[in-house]
Amino acid sequence: MQSGKQKRTAIMAKRKVKQERLCTVLAAVVPPRRIIRPKGSVPVDVWALAPNNSYGTPAFVQRGYYEDITFTCRDCGARQVWTASRQQWWYETAKGYVYSTAVRCLGCRQQRRRALGGQ
Ligand SMILES: [Zn+2]
Repeated sequence: MQSGKQKRTAIMAKRKVKQERLCTVLAAVVPPRRIIRPKGSVPVDVWALAPNNSYGTPAFVQRGYYEDITFTCRDCGARQVWTASRQQWWYETAKGYVYSTAVRCLGCRQQRRRALGGQ
């Protein structure tokens, strides 16, 4: 006959084994969530993004950070860099559509804005 204390010790030991086994299983299934960001990148605050009901996840959300993107201006053909911090501003502060990207350089954007009757 076991005493209450002995029973408790046996239960705790069994529990510990089960817990450790579960941890091993989870470690194999769930990849580490630590994101290694390159220098100059900016982390994404998913909750600050504009809500969207499209399927899938934009690449920068999947990645977990913004990084500088080089693009060619649609109007003048100049090579431009859309910086990580400007992307963060666009998506998180200006609430830009998450699948929109920069297509024009600053000069062309200003020109276009003037042409469209803005300031
Ligand atoms: Zn341009």
